[in-house]
Amino acid sequence: MATLDWYGCATFRLNVDGLTVFLDAYIDRAEGAAGSGTSADDIDLCDWIVIGHSHFDHLYGAERIMANTNATLIGSYETIRVMEQAGVASDRMICVAGGEMVSLSENVTVSVYPSQHSCVWSHSQMSQSDEVCLGDLGVTWQEQQARMADLGKYVTTQLAKPAIEHLLGSMAGQSPRGDGGALVYLFEAPEGSLLYQDTSGHWSGILGGLRPDVAILAAAGRGNLDGEPIQGSLADFVAREVELVKPDRVVLCHHDDWLPGFSVPTDITPLREAIERGGSHLLELGYVDATEILTDGPRLRVVD
Ligand SMILES: [Zn+2]
Repeated sequence: MATLDWYGCATFRLNVDGLTVFLDAYIDRAEGAAGSGTSADDIDLCDWIVIGHSHFDHLYGAERIMANTNATLIGSYETIRVMEQAGVASDRMICVAGGEMVSLSENVTVSVYPSQHSCVWSHSQMSQSDEVCLGDLGVTWQEQQARMADLGKYVTTQLAKPAIEHLLGSMAGQSPRGDGGALVYLFEAPEGSLLYQDTSGHWSGILGGLRPDVAILAAAGRGNLDGEPIQGSLADFVAREVELVKPDRVVLCHHDDWLPGFSVPTDITPLREAIERGGSHLLELGYVDATEILTDGPRLRVVD
């Protein structure tokens, strides 16, 4: 049996085959954001940490879990650079870019695939899950950078002072150079397989080749479809991913109000409907509730 504990945003603890694996490491919360009531400082048992991308709301806390446990961290070259700067020994980290399969134990592997970050540059406050967003196609890297700078200014006007202090503290002088390249991970264990995505983006040619039993899909911001913003809603984007991956069960992440003033408390109903239309079932996790996610072995793979 494998269980999953959600810590808010896109951070989970996966217990599988006697292993404790953290998927992202952002446990401490900004002022006003609900969460598990725990801190990364409280984690004293961890074998592996996998990081989807290098932004603070995914990576901050990993440096303390690494200090308090014997874990090995897997992440992009930028994630490893940030962690090295935070004092983590490089021989306890594995740099990946997509294409690797890492053995986590005798029975469990994780495969890494290149992915995409949500189009954070295309909006100010995040949209609700059924709000249709159009346009913003063909925007150059330079224009995206300019819009990101505007977003940074906007966010500082929206957040409460403690939340800004949390943001500055979480970066702690090791601010990443962008997202570092988003990755998705496919865990394969005797109990079944699990896909982990921590930001709403994908390469459809890559995602469409994966057939996990359970898919953790990010549901926040404007979806990134092969490098361009989705022409539609977040629910449309999730529907497309369910269509590509065809998982039996879906777990959502990043949909909670993790940074009040910028994030929104996401309405799950349009997402649940999109997932069910695609023939999958939504598993709704509370914070740290040890949800059983893999119990009956891998499903029969049907090539289609
Ligand atoms: Zn991010």
